[in-house]
Amino acid sequence: MQKYYIKTFGCKVNQYESRLISEKFKNDNFSAAQDISEADIIIFNSCTVTAQADKECEYFLRKVSKFPHKPQIYLTGCMAKNKADYIKSVFPNIKVITNKAELYSDAATQSVNTFDGRSRAFLKIQDGCDSFCSYCIVPYVRNELWSKPPDAVFSEIKNLIKNGFSEIVLTGIHVGKYFKRENLEKDEGGELNFSGLLEKIIQIPLNFRVRISSIELNEIDDKLIRLMKENPQKICRHLHIPLQSGSDGVLKLMNRRYGSETYREKTNKILQALPDLALTADIITGFPGETDERHNETVKFISETSFARLHIFRYSDRNGTRASRFENKVPPEIIKKRSIELFEIDAKKRKEFIQKFIGTKRQAANAGKNKALTDNYITQEIPYAKNGIFEVTIAKEAVI
Ligand code: SF4
Repeated sequence: MQKYYIKTFGCKVNQYESRLISEKFKNDNFSAAQDISEADIIIFNSCTVTAQADKECEYFLRKVSKFPHKPQIYLTGCMAKNKADYIKSVFPNIKVITNKAELYSDAATQSVNTFDGRSRAFLKIQDGCDSFCSYCIVPYVRNELWSKPPDAVFSEIKNLIKNGFSEIVLTGIHVGKYFKRENLEKDEGGELNFSGLLEKIIQIPLNFRVRISSIELNEIDDKLIRLMKENPQKICRHLHIPLQSGSDGVLKLMNRRYGSETYREKTNKILQALPDLALTADIITGFPGETDERHNETVKFISETSFARLHIFRYSDRNGTRASRFENKVPPEIIKKRSIELFEIDAKKRKEFIQKFIGTKRQAANAGKNKALTDNYITQEIPYAKNGIFEVTIAKEAVI
């Protein structure tokens, strides 16, 4: 039996799609290789969101191209779409598949049954983005908006719970754009936006909870906040709301759809309704046009906001994006210096957040390797792996 190996880079959506590919291979009587060097067929499911992601994938393409047993090598995913001609010219031995769906049959019906080695299941409910934030390559490689039919979502969740999962992470490229399409002619039953879908999901009468992977500020409606408030056992007290910058000048250049005051007002409203919520956010430092003054606006803004943790990214040009043609690029050494300052603030925020919960009890799910993940995103050691949703008392060694 031929062996296959899938190497996945990037986001939860990519992780989910790699599962679909893997299940297709298994259905076609291939067996999964434990190590990449054993595989007859190697699939790279790539990411291209940062220059670093491209570099990492290219390193592996070079490495496996030297394998003496000459495996079949496939490159799919966002880098395949973004750099197909370049890859074909540099790696003529590699088959570039720009339409990933070729590697798995109809995603609308095919569902993921398991997540080997994972205790929480990612469930892709949406794909595509047309927001064109000026730094982002995603709308150029995932531009078709797609939403999974609700019934397919419900049956996949039931399937995953049957297979032992107790936490389902709802994910997408732009989750908040779930079913927000003008022309709905192909979807009976009228419009269902994200909070509408969530309301139906939590009515599934089984022992599980959902976590929202990430959602844009403007797509959090009052219904979502109310659902989270009224269903603490069913919806994790965690919202990842990308901020990117605390400077209105930079947010405008980024083509983000909100100002710092709007972000502050909305997150204050959310934290008032959900005081134990883990509010996390992405920040890009070193965006073209980010002066010292604007950087300090970001420092001030995040210092004043009750974030539980931050994901800090150093700006990198993505060819083809508007920002890559902007002037006033920030020198790399300044970007580095600013990111170090932001990481220090992040470390302080994480400590403050954990401090609030030491000694209190939280609902948790198995996070693998004798760790538990609470509803509000705290990771804690546990003596042995547990199934289902269980209670933990937050210890001072806990982290976020
Ligand atoms: S919302 Fe902006 S940052 Fe997010 S995927 Fe779309 S274009 Fe990229």
